[in-house]
Amino acid sequence: MSQLEVHGLTKRYGEKTVVDRVSFAVEKGEFCILLGPSGCGKSTILRIIAGLDQPTGGEIRIGERNVAGLSPSQRDVAMVFQSYALYPHMSVFENMAFPLEIGRTPKREIAAAVRQAARLLDIEELLPRKPRQLSGGQRQRVAIGRAIVRNPRLFLFDEPLSNLDAKLRAGMRVELAGLHQRLQATMLYVTHDQVEAMTLGSKIVILEQGI
Ligand code: ADP
Repeated sequence: MSQLEVHGLTKRYGEKTVVDRVSFAVEKGEFCILLGPSGCGKSTILRIIAGLDQPTGGEIRIGERNVAGLSPSQRDVAMVFQSYALYPHMSVFENMAFPLEIGRTPKREIAAAVRQAARLLDIEELLPRKPRQLSGGQRQRVAIGRAIVRNPRLFLFDEPLSNLDAKLRAGMRVELAGLHQRLQATMLYVTHDQVEAMTLGSKIVILEQGI
C-alpha cells in the first residue's frame, strides 16, 4: 500500500511554475529521497505535503486519504527542518513532549513516549537541558526525537543534516538509516547531496526545475 501518493502536483508563484505536474508514490516502510539542485522545488513539495503551503493543482494522498483541506496537525505527518526549529525557552523534554501535549495525550503516556524516543537516540541525559546548551548534532537529535514521539504515518525531512560538519553528517547518516530500520517508518527526505541520497534511499526521486 502506498503511504504517500502525489499526483500532478503543481505550484505557481505568479507567472513562475516552480513545481510542474510532479507525480510519485512512497510505499509503506520506504526511505524515499527527493534529490535535486538548490531551487528545483524540493522544499516546496515537502511543505505542500506537510500542509504548510497550498498547491496550485494536483492531489496528495497520505495513507490513502486525500489531505486537501486538512491542517498540518490533521495529516499525521512529522517534519524535521534544517533549522531544527526547537523552542529555546523549553527543555529538551518539553520540546519533545510538545506535539503530544497539544494532542491532549495523558501526561504519563507523554513521559513514556519521550523517554523511549530519547533512549532510541541516546539523548536521555540531555532531557533537562535547554537547546542553547546543546551542540548542533544534539539539537538535530532532539528535532528527530520530537518527530518520533508522534509516531506519524509519514516522516518528512528537509535537508536535516546540512548544518552539521562533514564528520558528524556521515555519522548521522548511519544513525538515520538504523533508525529507519528499527522504526520501519515511511520517510521522505529532501537533499541536494548525491552521496546522502545513495546511502540512505531505497527510492530516489530526481527533480530538476520543478520536473
Ligand atoms: P529547493 O528546496 O529545491 O532549494 P524551493 O522549493 O525552496 O527549492 O524553491 C523552488 C523555487 O521556488 C525557487 O526558484 C524559489 O525561488 C521559488 N520560491 C519559493 N518560495 C517562493 C515564494 N514564496 N515566492 C516566490 N517564489 C518562491
